[in-house]
Amino acid sequence: MDRKIAVLGDIHANLDALEVVLADARAQNVNEFICTGDVVGYNACPNECCKLVRELGCAVVQGNHDHYCAFEESLEDFHHLAAAVVAWTRRQLSSDNAAWLRSLPYTAMVKGIQVVHSTLDMPEHWGYVFESVEAEPSFSYQKTQACFHGHTHVPVVFEHQFGTVGRLEPGTIELRLGRKYFVNVGSVGQPRDGDPRACYCIYEPSKHLLEYRRLEYDVAAAQARIREAGLPDHLADRLARGR
Ligand code: ZN
Repeated sequence: MDRKIAVLGDIHANLDALEVVLADARAQNVNEFICTGDVVGYNACPNECCKLVRELGCAVVQGNHDHYCAFEESLEDFHHLAAAVVAWTRRQLSSDNAAWLRSLPYTAMVKGIQVVHSTLDMPEHWGYVFESVEAEPSFSYQKTQACFHGHTHVPVVFEHQFGTVGRLEPGTIELRLGRKYFVNVGSVGQPRDGDPRACYCIYEPSKHLLEYRRLEYDVAAAQARIREAGLPDHLADRLARGR
């Protein structure tokens, strides 16, 4: 059977968005999942999202929020609002889900596809890749045609050929022979590209096809959960803006 893979990440405990994405992936007859990390943080349903992702039984890499929320490290250097969410998430997470998050690797190789949350050159430093120049070091470590990542919450594809890196805007993209692609799958639970809809990718390796999907979900429900949990208001507000 040809692989049809849903690649999703930066879920950030947004159950309303995750349920819509998983339903869409199944309706698209996806037969495999890959998760680029940050299952928790920012939104109000960390355990529920861990459960759904764990049930997929798929490869999952560790994101920075997964890391902060699952390890009892000092939050001194954090912005106070970020620290508040991490502290809240630590209190919510079941010990089993925290142990699962701690067990996640920084990078994964999934039958010829590389996966990382941030960058391939220094995955544990959580560098951000917004521009082509920032994607360059990862290509030295990219052994496969496609590598999926997240972290910025901005969907974009970096294309490498003959030593230069270009950017492709999200849409339906054909992967060409002899080129490498460092693909940011966008964010399920807190998009930041100005479009509040949940974002993920479907990748069909045998067809060399990558398709970005954007989905409406119940933003008001996710916002209500944030406010009920007593999490910072701006986390609810930004969901509606997609910033
Ligand atoms: Zn994130």
